[in-house]
Amino acid sequence: MAKEAEKLQRVIAADLHIHTCLSPCATLDMTPRKIVTEACAKGLEIIAVTDHNSAENTPGVIRAATETGLYVIPGIEVTTSEEVHVLGLFEEVDQAFAMQRIVYDNLQAGKNDEDLFGIQVVANEFDEVESINTRLLIGATSLNLSEVVDAIHRRKGLAVAAHIDRERFSVIGQLGFIPDDLDLDAVEISKRLPIDQARNRFKEYKRFAFITASDAHDLKEIGTGSIHIHALRAHVAELRQALKGTGGRRIEY
Ligand SMILES: [Zn+2]
Ligand SMILES: [Zn+2]
Repeated sequence: MAKEAEKLQRVIAADLHIHTCLSPCATLDMTPRKIVTEACAKGLEIIAVTDHNSAENTPGVIRAATETGLYVIPGIEVTTSEEVHVLGLFEEVDQAFAMQRIVYDNLQAGKNDEDLFGIQVVANEFDEVESINTRLLIGATSLNLSEVVDAIHRRKGLAVAAHIDRERFSVIGQLGFIPDDLDLDAVEISKRLPIDQARNRFKEYKRFAFITASDAHDLKEIGTGSIHIHALRAHVAELRQALKGTGGRRIEY
């Protein structure tokens, strides 16, 4: 027990919201290897890959991180029918891909306009182009907020309301409030708002765990927003406990 308590002193730096070159709005050098190299250089031990409405680059980043010690969470940033961004963070790529299937089945029809939004590159662990995704990933799904949260939970993921302090694409920006019955695992505060100010501004939502992350769209942004997890090891199960504040796990900023 004493030993466990000692180990819980371990503080793991995590940036849980990072886009890759698959997101039309991210830069093309957000490739798997470069992301991993940058994350390691910044001292991060956990990153989550959260592209808009797709998880197709999660295997490339996970494989690029093999033998680096960096733990990569396969994730997705889903756009709900209310145009709210919700992060789904999963333990396994298969779960993220299962979520991606329901997202693709319900994604706004149409093709990505590369000139307008940017190219959507699927890359492997060697930063080679595997394919170009032509879906309208920047679009919204026809799934509403609670459907998205439920779909994430059914696939054993953590559901996080993204950048709630921002006006655009956030639950508070779009709806004006967080519905009482919305079963979120955390709310994300953008890196622009210091966490103590966020706690004051969002007092009525103190029932939720607060996280912050970079929402990086280019390499230099990686790690510019992060949390510190007191846990035994870098793993989604530990993150889940830290968000709940159970088992001695907790989050610092
Ligand atoms: Zn977003
Ligand atoms: Zn984002």
